Amino acid sequence: MDLYEYQGKELFRRFGIPVSDGRLALSPEDARQAAQELGGAVVVKAQVHAGGRGKAGGIKLAASPSEAEARAADILGMDIRGHVVHRLWVEKASEIEREYYLSVTFDRGEKKPLFMLTTEGGVDIEELAATSPEKLARLHVDPLVGFHPFQARWLCFAAGIREPAEQKQVIAIVGKLYETFVSCEAMLCEINPLIVTPAGEVRALDAKVTIDDNALYRHPDLAELRDLAAADVQEQRAREKGLAYVKLDGDIGILGNGAGLVMSTLDVVAQAGGRPANFCDIGGGAQADVVVGALEVITADPVKAILFNIFGGITRGGEVARGLLEALERIGIDVPVVVRLDGTEAEEGRRLLAESSPANVHVESTMLSAAERVVELAR
Ligand code: GDP
Ligand code: MN
Repeated sequence: MDLYEYQGKELFRRFGIPVSDGRLALSPEDARQAAQELGGAVVVKAQVHAGGRGKAGGIKLAASPSEAEARAADILGMDIRGHVVHRLWVEKASEIEREYYLSVTFDRGEKKPLFMLTTEGGVDIEELAATSPEKLARLHVDPLVGFHPFQARWLCFAAGIREPAEQKQVIAIVGKLYETFVSCEAMLCEINPLIVTPAGEVRALDAKVTIDDNALYRHPDLAELRDLAAADVQEQRAREKGLAYVKLDGDIGILGNGAGLVMSTLDVVAQAGGRPANFCDIGGGAQADVVVGALEVITADPVKAILFNIFGGITRGGEVARGLLEALERIGIDVPVVVRLDGTEAEEGRRLLAESSPANVHVESTMLSAAERVVELAR
């Protein structure tokens, strides 16, 4: 779950990472009020789950409360790469001497948290990593040993931060960022830019925090930060139904039971020359209504054909077939559906499908033949 900048900054503040004073504003009047309370120049910042807000015109400086109100009116309702702005963060404007980049994320290859620090902040970090990797200081933390302050000193040194007073602040921030990362069970804590002011103060000017969805039940205070209105409608619908759904960019809908089977189905479809539009994992032991729900989610994307790949363990073929037949009736699926049923009660499922034999349902006996068939039908 991605947090908005203002929510991330609230977390940072809680963990002792310096951030600017600010207020949440939902209207131009709120923004004026906020600017008045903060005093002096402010920055009006669009709160959306997307980066590059500055370049998109979603971040504006304002010298006075009335200017803040005007900028807020400009930014509210703006569309930043598909995200409509409904919330603003108005904070005290900072003077910037230098912009750095600091983050901690998971390196799945190393199975360890990875810190990255560079003095070339404000830039696109992926680009920097590709073009000038030597400018990006990287450091893994062994999760069993934990984080040690010498690692922050090493990181600072490797990034070329030499000024002692500045080093001291960056080292403290690195430690606190790790604390935030671990305590909140985050997948990413990113500060871009981490600024140095002309007075030599180091502060987080932006905050990007992603919390591990699977850990949210342990953090009810973080879970309630989710902005239901901003979530992708389909992902939201799938989540409510307890389904794992992922949108892709091809034209074949994939439905399977269990993450492993779904992943291999994607591979086999790709091998057969097809491109999945999405996939939905109905998990184990799904009843007919779960299958109907999954088909609703899958067909909300523009799919040309659907591949239904079920290997029954605790999921029973009969239930799955009943769900498919019910969905065909209830939501009127008119694209071809290729079905491969195997395992528990597969015969029962195939028998049910053969009995009512809907014109657009094609039963295949193996995963590969099913994939080839669906690719052919999607053409
Ligand atoms: P992003 O574009 O979505 O990453 O949003 P950021 O919060 O990182 O802001 C983008 C850029 O706006 C920063 O890199 C800064 O250069 C600039 N900016 C943001 N806040 C301030 C501020 O308080 N003062 C000044 N001078 N510039 C700011
Ligand atoms: Mn940023």
